[in-house]
Amino acid sequence: MTDQDKALDYLRSHHAVYIDELTEFLSLPSISALTEHKEAVQAAALWLQQRLAQAGIPVSRIDHTAGHPVVYAETVQDPAKPTVLVYGHYDVQPVDPLDQWTHPPFSPTVVDNVLYARGSSDDKGQVYMQVVAAESWIKTGELPVNLKFLFEGEEEIGSIHLDEYIRTHQEQLQADVAVISDTPMFAQDVPAVCYGLRGLAAMEIHVEGPRQDLHSGVFGGAVENPAHALAKIIASLHDAQGRVTVPGFYDGVSPLTGQERRNFAALPFDEADFLHSTGSPELYGEAGFTTLERIWARPTLEVNGMWSGFIGEGRKTIIPQSAHAKLSCRLVPHQDPAAIADQVAAFIESQCPPTVRLRIERGEGAPGSITPLDHPATQAAVRAIRDIYHREAAYIRMGGSIPVVVTFETVLHMPTVLLGFALPDENFHAPNEHFHLENFYKGAETVATLWNYLGTPATS
Ligand SMILES: [Zn+2]
Repeated sequence: MTDQDKALDYLRSHHAVYIDELTEFLSLPSISALTEHKEAVQAAALWLQQRLAQAGIPVSRIDHTAGHPVVYAETVQDPAKPTVLVYGHYDVQPVDPLDQWTHPPFSPTVVDNVLYARGSSDDKGQVYMQVVAAESWIKTGELPVNLKFLFEGEEEIGSIHLDEYIRTHQEQLQADVAVISDTPMFAQDVPAVCYGLRGLAAMEIHVEGPRQDLHSGVFGGAVENPAHALAKIIASLHDAQGRVTVPGFYDGVSPLTGQERRNFAALPFDEADFLHSTGSPELYGEAGFTTLERIWARPTLEVNGMWSGFIGEGRKTIIPQSAHAKLSCRLVPHQDPAAIADQVAAFIESQCPPTVRLRIERGEGAPGSITPLDHPATQAAVRAIRDIYHREAAYIRMGGSIPVVVTFETVLHMPTVLLGFALPDENFHAPNEHFHLENFYKGAETVATLWNYLGTPATS
């Protein structure tokens, strides 16, 4: 029997224990947003720290922050083995409206092999899955990799103190790669490795004309209307093909490879369902790209809000004093958020007529991230999925951002593999959150197998 088989056997013979323990963990109402749950958040941190110790992990502790604590643990660190930083969060979202839950959110209930509870899939179930995957190696032999665990209690409130924790613990957190199980698979029976995320660049533009709102009977026709000027500026930002017209906007964009386009095209993506989920009459986007390509691998520029003039009941015949818009760009990997913000601002200035004044306020920015498909950790994850699910992993990207991934990349200089086992319709953040236990068991086995492939890379 190989060492890996021993670890997998261990996992397969402990299902009943896992359900009992997960029930305990999920019963602790660790809602980070609510002050009255502060003790429950601490209780969940303590439960997790003790469970890591019980797994035979020699270092495990609770590190206090100015907010909810970080749970940190590490296995014996052998310099000959690669090191993986496992990240997850043990805090959960609030549960209201409570009357829409079929089972109380903190009384975990299993129905047809599906576990219902707040935090079951996002993310306590997947955090616990990581702990038992490590334990299966420790109790049956020796882990093929060095593991470090970073579990935070503030993810659902914006990871307020995590960046500071990472910056002040850089040496402790040093690793070759980060692995996060906090994302969904592509669909039921479509396990996925997510290797790319988009970044963001945001700004506000303010167009000002007269000193104050003007009577349109007295001044209308003789003074530029700031709302009209803003509308023209906004309209100039895209061409008829849905492309952003800002010069240089696409310069840093790495083109999709033929392989990536084939991978995306092979996914069981139902465009009609997707359209239906939006409620829009038709889909729209940059010419020459499919919907998944537009969302995952192309940059965008969007108006998030616009306001100007009188919007109360009835009529007020004025030329408004000013007009405003909030804009943001979703960026793809290798686009520099500051450079993009400069280019967009310069273009908007060039489009602004001399009849109004323009002020641009820069907002936050974050780069996108990508982990090469041929990175050893990506390939090890693909092999692990093949072994356990008996199918090929889908290579997917995500259109949104995960800030901690950016911090890992910019502060710790390590890539991240997103290997999640939830399903897209398991009601994260909503009533009746659940987790398919089959994916919990297979997820733990996949992670245990991943450690083996990472520790003993294929030589041929
Ligand atoms: Zn989460």
